[in-house]
Amino acid sequence: MEAVAPDGCCCGDDACDDVAGQAAAAAARGAAGPSAWMGLSGVLLVLGMALERLAPAAGGQLGAPRLDGALYLLSALAGAAYPARSAWRSLRRGRLDMNVLMVIAILGAFALGARAEGATVAFLFALGEVLEAQALARSRRSIGALLNLTPPVALVREGEALAERPVAALIPGDLTVVRPGERIPADGVVEAGASSVNQAPVTGESMPADKGPGDAVYAGTINGFGSLEVRVTRAAGDALVARIARQVELARSRRSPAERLVDAFARRYTPAVVLLAALVATLPPLVTGQPWSPWIYRALALLVVACPCALVLSTPVAVVSALSQAARQGVLIKGGAVLEALGRVRALAFDKTGTLTSGRPQVTDILAGPREDAARVLALAAAVECYSEHPLAAAICRRAREAGVTPPSARGFEARPGLGARAHVDGEEWRVGSPAFVAGPEGAGRTATAAHAELTAAVARLAADGKTVVLVGDGRGPVGALAVSDPERPGGREAILALRRAGVSQIHLLTGDNEGTARRLATDLALDGYRSACLPEDKARAVSDLEARVGPVAMVGDGINDAPALAAATVGVAMGGAGAEAALETADMVLVADDLSRLPFALSLARQTRRVIRQNVALSLALKLGAAALVFPGWLTLWMAVVADTGATLLVILNGLRLLRTRPGDGTMLGRGGGHGSIEG
Ligand code: ADP
Ligand code: MG
Repeated sequence: MEAVAPDGCCCGDDACDDVAGQAAAAAARGAAGPSAWMGLSGVLLVLGMALERLAPAAGGQLGAPRLDGALYLLSALAGAAYPARSAWRSLRRGRLDMNVLMVIAILGAFALGARAEGATVAFLFALGEVLEAQALARSRRSIGALLNLTPPVALVREGEALAERPVAALIPGDLTVVRPGERIPADGVVEAGASSVNQAPVTGESMPADKGPGDAVYAGTINGFGSLEVRVTRAAGDALVARIARQVELARSRRSPAERLVDAFARRYTPAVVLLAALVATLPPLVTGQPWSPWIYRALALLVVACPCALVLSTPVAVVSALSQAARQGVLIKGGAVLEALGRVRALAFDKTGTLTSGRPQVTDILAGPREDAARVLALAAAVECYSEHPLAAAICRRAREAGVTPPSARGFEARPGLGARAHVDGEEWRVGSPAFVAGPEGAGRTATAAHAELTAAVARLAADGKTVVLVGDGRGPVGALAVSDPERPGGREAILALRRAGVSQIHLLTGDNEGTARRLATDLALDGYRSACLPEDKARAVSDLEARVGPVAMVGDGINDAPALAAATVGVAMGGAGAEAALETADMVLVADDLSRLPFALSLARQTRRVIRQNVALSLALKLGAAALVFPGWLTLWMAVVADTGATLLVILNGLRLLRTRPGDGTMLGRGGGHGSIEG
């Protein structure tokens, strides 16, 4: 079995990933080896101490002191089993790290006859390692549990109908329909449709590749704005959540700025301390001719007290605990750097459809102009929309199914994010989407007639009611409209109140929907501002503006139209269940169950984490400096050094682990209870 993160502390380069990997592997196996050795070390240490106390009472037999000495020695061997291996590895790579420092201190203590101290250093050091590995293992387990949460599904064409099937059940020969922004579920060949595909997840190439009939596409790559029909050639599943989980697992290698600083510090600091200790041990005896042993003792005490273990652990234990607690509460955060950024957030921007609203909208009205009847309007809309991933599209297709309307088949689908979608039905281009898109200058508004004017008036009325209006039209103009009402997402209001209480000063709404709907929702939720009729790049610009005015911004969204804004924000947050995969891929964190109440929780967890890290750094520095000041007058005993060092380490670890107990909810949020206060005191 490999070591459990022993050199994790002091390395600051690529070796860390390697070490984190080993630690993860060991942790996954339950870290039985290291904990067993640590436990053995502790038992032997206690036995040794007991025997040392009892020995005089037992009449001072000659054998007794040697027996407790042997117990201490065995305890130290058990405790140092893992650190010693890591120390050896570091030395061979020409590095002086914390493990080396500890092994020197333990050997030195035994050489000077300070056996109890030496064994204690070894035991407490091992204890610290085991606790750290356990924090890591916990986070991995909770992420593992998420893997089973959302089994990915693919849309499969079965005759004329489309059916959902688990990605794992796809077999070669299946014809899958990949909607805009979706991940391609399996390797295959395009049969119909045209789109550009972002292949970065597979090839690392950031320019999207154009795909049309005959082109090969790969599982895990992300479809652009077109819809593709892909003939599966290889059965495979690249589960999205698995990919996010993998990114979260890289949390330790994607270090936060604070971690990198501490690492850089530790890398220079450790050799400096070894040099200083060597000088303390040799200079005074050589120069002044004093006896060697007290100075060697002081040098050892200095080594122990100077071990940067507590400082180096200050950040990672807190970060790993926070990430794993967040994951357990349904918030996937892609690394420590994101957590740190989240703690600084001052403003929030929300997308509307699918984010602040349920994303399960209902078609409430169907209006038809003189050219077509209502059933035909619904059929045409559904023909286009069955290729779309948009929540409005889902509502329209659902309504068509419920009404028993069979849509005609459509070809050449293209999504226009923030506007609508278009496709060819019977050789004619049909558009479904916002009034601007279907009837505006881009659409066929130039040929407006009295009938259109009537439709326009009806549209305005519905929009004023806070409904989203989707027009259906061809080159000759709109033929009808569908009104869709999208109820507020439950818990959204409470989440916004909680965010305000958490000190978020500005909360804005950014939507591609019409002015009426946007104003109504923004007023209803008492938001600080809104922008309507936003195209994807307008949202991104609005986020940058907000950031320039107020400070770090978190953007919460669900659609491909939100991806640019998610990327522009300090922290991009995607809705996990409702979200398009393009949004999930771009986002820095994901609300797995679409639960907005997790947002204030994540925010307070992030701030809590910053606070814990600051406490940890202050605590370890204060204890260390205090103890180090006692070295030179010769007041520092090895015991005090041990207590200062391992005490600081343990406090830092326990302080970090407290974050595992942070719970969402301060009475206004959904369920769980507990409150922020639970970790404060
Ligand atoms: P939001 O920004 O609120 O999430 P979107 O940007 O996704 O909303 O959509 C904005 C508007 O564009 C919608 O209100 C609708 O009018 C239109 N739209 C976009 N995509 C579609 C689609 N697939 N079908 C119908 N309308 C659409
Ligand atoms: Mg949306």
